[in-house]
Amino acid sequence: MPELPEVETVRRGLEDKLKYFLIQDIEILSARTISSEGGVDVFIKNIKGLILGNWERRGKYLICYLQSQYDSKHSGWLVVHLRMTGQFQWLPSTQIPCSHTRVRFWNNEGREIRFVDTRNFGQMWWISPKHLPREQINGLNKLGPEPFSTDFNPVYLKNSLRNRKRSIKASLLDQTVVAGAGNIYADESLFDAGIIPTKESRNLSEVEISKLYSSLTRILKISIGKGGTTFKDFRDLEGINGNYGGQAWVYGRGNKSCKKCGSKIIKTKVSGRGTHYCPICQK
Ligand SMILES: [Zn+2]
Repeated sequence: MPELPEVETVRRGLEDKLKYFLIQDIEILSARTISSEGGVDVFIKNIKGLILGNWERRGKYLICYLQSQYDSKHSGWLVVHLRMTGQFQWLPSTQIPCSHTRVRFWNNEGREIRFVDTRNFGQMWWISPKHLPREQINGLNKLGPEPFSTDFNPVYLKNSLRNRKRSIKASLLDQTVVAGAGNIYADESLFDAGIIPTKESRNLSEVEISKLYSSLTRILKISIGKGGTTFKDFRDLEGINGNYGGQAWVYGRGNKSCKKCGSKIIKTKVSGRGTHYCPICQK
């Protein structure tokens, strides 16, 4: 599943390739992808003829500022969530769509940006300029702070974990605690901080919380610099896989030797998610 670094990599690609892309035509091949009110018809009617402006990221949501092609007036937002397998493809010439193609946008030069999604859980919304995206999309409204914002800091983290009996792994996956960190980065930062994923959130010491804060923010930053993780479904706009995965300490390394101490990495389930840790390095 794309996590913050992957979504940020996609955002940068979209901003780079699609700045001032005029939406001349749209084809929706999967009605369920369109999640905004009024479905496909309202989406097409409102987005056709607009220009894609700046792309922002909030958690794992991509938010594009839409403008009128005539006077640059703000004309709402296009919001996208890639979910499990959603990806964008930038095509300079016409290519026959694969069976997983869900939405196609063309500009006035016939260039296409295509949304391909094998599992088809990805979502798109058109949000009217009368509203803010978070007023219309519940998941966006409930998001916790961005990991690189000043709102996310050791004091905040300590308060969020206080009195929580659930595992620290579950807390890190909770998007209301911190936006955008998912399974891979939760496992990797817990290893880096030397904390066992099953530890009750409320039992983390102040030192552990500080370590976890720096591990998480540092690993996310490194991974963004490398273009996201190598995992089978993730591609950037030009089909290139990032390469953080090659550097993973525990994620995807069940039964292999810990790169630090040599013990066997354990793969288990915590809150229903595959979880990897070293029983010696993490306490
Ligand atoms: Zn170890």
